[in-house]
Amino acid sequence: MSKEVECGGWAAKDASGVLAPFKFPRRAPRPTDVKFKITHCGICHTDLHLIHNEWGSSKYPMVPGHEVVGLVTELGPGAKKFKVGDHVGVGCMVFSCLKCDHCKHGDEQYCDKLVWTYNSEEDGKITMGGYSGFLVADEKFVVRVPDNLPLDAAAPLLCAGITVYSPMKHFGMTQAGKNFGVVGLGGLGHMAVKFGKAFGMKVTVISTSPSKEKEAREVLGAHNFIVSKDSAQMKKAAKTMDYILDTVSAPHPLDALLELLKIDGKLVMVGLPDKPLELPAGVIIFGRRSLAGSFIGSIRETQDMLDFCGKNNVTSMIELVPMDYVNKAMERLRKSDVKYRFVLDVEKTLKP
Ligand code: NAP
Ligand code: ZN
Repeated sequence: MSKEVECGGWAAKDASGVLAPFKFPRRAPRPTDVKFKITHCGICHTDLHLIHNEWGSSKYPMVPGHEVVGLVTELGPGAKKFKVGDHVGVGCMVFSCLKCDHCKHGDEQYCDKLVWTYNSEEDGKITMGGYSGFLVADEKFVVRVPDNLPLDAAAPLLCAGITVYSPMKHFGMTQAGKNFGVVGLGGLGHMAVKFGKAFGMKVTVISTSPSKEKEAREVLGAHNFIVSKDSAQMKKAAKTMDYILDTVSAPHPLDALLELLKIDGKLVMVGLPDKPLELPAGVIIFGRRSLAGSFIGSIRETQDMLDFCGKNNVTSMIELVPMDYVNKAMERLRKSDVKYRFVLDVEKTLKP
């Protein structure tokens, strides 16, 4: 066992979800490890679900954060992928078994022994995420952030970005001119709009927030905006969409969304509400429609997505906030009051 080093961060101690300064040990780099100073970390809705134990799987104390970026400071003697000073990132996972079919075929996010960046177990200890000063991980699970991307606005690509990019590639939501609906204009949703636009698709935002329409059209370039609670608008758009990506974090009706799909259309869920959703079978049967799900993306896909973002200048729209704003940010995220991702300014505001 290698030596441990003390790391500072912010942790939730129980399901009240209140975050406070916290110190914990991290391992010193092993032979193929990368250690990096965290400059920024995005706040994903998953962090909010987990600090409050909404999925029943939370382990405390919990240092959340899986949209982690920063600068390499140290390398294990056998680590070859990066050099000191490189811009790097870590997303939702820090290790997997490397032996199962999923790992061998580059779908390691579906490995049964996946080690999450936080709220997971490794070497008998709970893993701790990016609301902290530095991170140590095997180089296989560290990706390169293109130098032309600002680190703060690139951080959310590590989860929000890859979680929508992976299913878009996998299910063919990349075809120029196809009608692509995005449900929920939050962290994941606004990235889906950006990728849809970059692929040349006709993007419609389906939202509960009429206040987001102007910006969705004028800044994000959405072709259309539908308020999901307005049944007349929903009816008018029936059978118009080829694909829908659902990023909603709370229970919501699926039938009205499926009605928007053309025959053979596909709805892919990435949002993860804490309660089961109802599915009236008729709505898929009478349109030969498909309903699928998708979970983050592999390391290979994450690097591919980051390179795409580097070439096409795609980043997240963020509100950069200091570390001690994190509890307020969680409160506002709960109310969908953020455009569109909070990012913690870890390097400048995490007190030693
Ligand atoms: P977010 O920023 O809070 O965005 C979610 C959006 O859903 C909100 O902005 C809101 O958009 C809409 N919404 C919220 N409550 C709603 C309700 N009651 N009914 C209808 N719409 C509602 O969250 P996020 O970070 O994008 O994450 C979204 C979900 O994806 C979370 O459940 C998260 O855990 C999950 N997630 C899954 C994966 C995966 O691998 N599949 C990865 C990361 C995150 P409007 O205001 O436009 O309606
Ligand atoms: Zn996430």
